Amino acid sequence: MTQGISPRFAAIRELASRTPRVDPAQTGLKISELFGVNTFGLAQMREKLPSDVFAKLRSTIETGKRLDAGIASPVAHAIKEWALERGATHFCHWFQPQTGSTAEKHDAFLSFDDDKNAIEKISGGQLVQSEPDASSFPSGGMRTTFEARGYTAWDPSSPVFIMESAGTRTLCIPSVFISYHGDALDEKTALIRSVEVISQKACELLETMGFAGAKRVVATLGAEQEYFLVDRAFYMLRPDLVMTGRSLVGGQPPKGQELEDHYFGSVPARVLAFMNDMEHELYKLGVPVKTRHNEVAPSQFESAPIFEDVNLSTDHNQITMEVLRRVALRHNFACLLHEKPFAGVNGSGKHNNWSLAIAASGPELDGQNLLDPGKTPRQNLRFLLFLAATLKGVHKHAGLLRAGIASAGNDHRLGANEAPPAIISVFLGDLLSRILDEVEGGNTSSESAEAAVIRLGVAKIPEVMKDNTDRNRTSPFAFTGNKFEFRAVGSSASTAFPVTLLNAAVADGLTEITAALKAKLHGAKSVDEAILEVVREAAVATKAIRFEGNNYANEWVVEAERRGLPNLRKTPAALMELVSEKSKHMLTTVGVFSEAELTSRFHVRLERYIKVLAIEVESLGQIVDTMILPTALKYHTMLAQGAAAAKSAGLTAPQSEVAEHLAKLIAQLTARKHALHAAFVSAEAKATEEAKAEALAHEVSDAMLAVREICDALEGVVADELWPLPKYREMLFLS
Ligand code: ADP
Ligand code: MG
Repeated sequence: MTQGISPRFAAIRELASRTPRVDPAQTGLKISELFGVNTFGLAQMREKLPSDVFAKLRSTIETGKRLDAGIASPVAHAIKEWALERGATHFCHWFQPQTGSTAEKHDAFLSFDDDKNAIEKISGGQLVQSEPDASSFPSGGMRTTFEARGYTAWDPSSPVFIMESAGTRTLCIPSVFISYHGDALDEKTALIRSVEVISQKACELLETMGFAGAKRVVATLGAEQEYFLVDRAFYMLRPDLVMTGRSLVGGQPPKGQELEDHYFGSVPARVLAFMNDMEHELYKLGVPVKTRHNEVAPSQFESAPIFEDVNLSTDHNQITMEVLRRVALRHNFACLLHEKPFAGVNGSGKHNNWSLAIAASGPELDGQNLLDPGKTPRQNLRFLLFLAATLKGVHKHAGLLRAGIASAGNDHRLGANEAPPAIISVFLGDLLSRILDEVEGGNTSSESAEAAVIRLGVAKIPEVMKDNTDRNRTSPFAFTGNKFEFRAVGSSASTAFPVTLLNAAVADGLTEITAALKAKLHGAKSVDEAILEVVREAAVATKAIRFEGNNYANEWVVEAERRGLPNLRKTPAALMELVSEKSKHMLTTVGVFSEAELTSRFHVRLERYIKVLAIEVESLGQIVDTMILPTALKYHTMLAQGAAAAKSAGLTAPQSEVAEHLAKLIAQLTARKHALHAAFVSAEAKATEEAKAEALAHEVSDAMLAVREICDALEGVVADELWPLPKYREMLFLS
């Protein structure tokens, strides 16, 4: 510590001498040459593997079938040779337990040959499967129901990659994590199942409407990642950021985001150097990051990739979050992925751009986006059917989709008049709304399907859509021309769970639409007529979920209630939707979760919520007791001494007035601290986890805010040089 000045002032001084950290080795490199050098994907496999082995592997990847055990050994050998060339010494199964992040246990490539010489080796068996101790990961009670053992199994659809960190290189093998009996213990297994089921249902609908030749339908995802950067020197002086990822106290600075001067502004040099470094790392790992820019709040930024199939882009988003955190340190930043690190400015989300694309052998169908209105009236009718299926899924399972994004962090963001509200609704835009309204009006049945298509403007959707650029930033689930943007997902969340539920919900919608179409085809004059009729019925049935207005307005809350849409403001209530009869029935029917798996997800998430809140309460208590109260008392003593000295010198003592105000605040803080403690004790004493979580979400959260209010008032009274915690104006505006 610098002698004589406070740690906070020393941190400010440290910042003044910071410069952008530019790595000369990274300048002048072409992205195309860098891209994927640390991944072993299909191109490398083709080069290294015997052709019959490669053909089998590729068909496994493309069809999602189980890996032929016979090819595991040669594949493992090729992967090992490649990894050794790139300097890897260890390998691990890289998987996504229900902690929201990733897990890995490293093994050295060490083995011994017959002469006891050390050699590098990974067997086919080690590549394909491993057995970490499942009991160290949350299972939500599944361990009592099932075996304690857990297995990780290679998921060959996501390429293996080499993670470089602190001079070490580790081969990571993307894996799923399942119990002895095949129950999903992780986030990926169900995602993969949902990818399968939506593909199957979408293909069925395509076939029913007469589009032959689709081999698969791929759910696609592009996840826009928002984050904050705070200088490390400040971060280390904020126990709340370190322990909880968000500031539990902190007075509002004179300036926030109201001048709108940060959004899309020029990126500060130190940050740009960081972004460049971070993207460099991601390119090597084959993560297709495309855009970077400042976000709305000061010190808030965004990185967005080019979309990929959801399984891969989910892995890539996990890698992105890890690389963001790790590279930030090199640049003396802490990267905050929390949904609401700072009160009073925007929080962070992760917009999940989602769509469905055809994979076909023929070039005319392959790659077609099913949520992109096409060139022909038939493609537009197809588009309307998939739109209708999506509306059905979201309408029927709005509560479940809300549950999928529920977390303690996201509660601070949803409905805070800066982010989509906790009410799930769908925004379609003027043109589509008009078309659906007219279809819904029912005056299509009197004319031929062809005439209706022309009159409704269905034939012209793509042309008109181009001009239909109005966007509704307030909607949690918005159609943006050729995809949906699920905006309510939190910035720190894995995309796996929300997208799994979305895929499942839309698969359910597709099932209904296909059944309706099949029924209508009997006796219909034409397929087009049957399609229009199905779209009409779906438009009527799902009208309540469509909302084009301002989602932040209070009137919407009232209107949504009238429409019967769920408004699940906080996590505990939202999570109940996971175990509702409706959700259980749908998810088990489409085969994405078993009932036990679903119950376990409910418990894991509820437990995590309770733990996060408890950590926050404890952290706030420590900050108040050991930092804020002592500082306030010290200042009070100084004021009292000053006042006494002034009085004895016969001078007026302005200190007395400040001291009096301070004394009041100290008394209030003490009282509110006790109230928080009492609320917490009472929550802890509740008989069930559900009741405990509810009490934490309401009484305890309110009591925390009450404590914070006084802390922030004190920050505005106590002499600046004494205040121990870096202030908002410093964390948000200095870099
Ligand atoms: P913005 O939303 O800012 O206008 P874009 O429309 O370019 O930006 O896309 C935002 C994100 O949506 C990007 O990650 C992009 O790759 C992704 N995206 C674009 N098309 C699709 C699609 N068909 N499926 C999934 N994601 C998509
Ligand atoms: Mg966007």
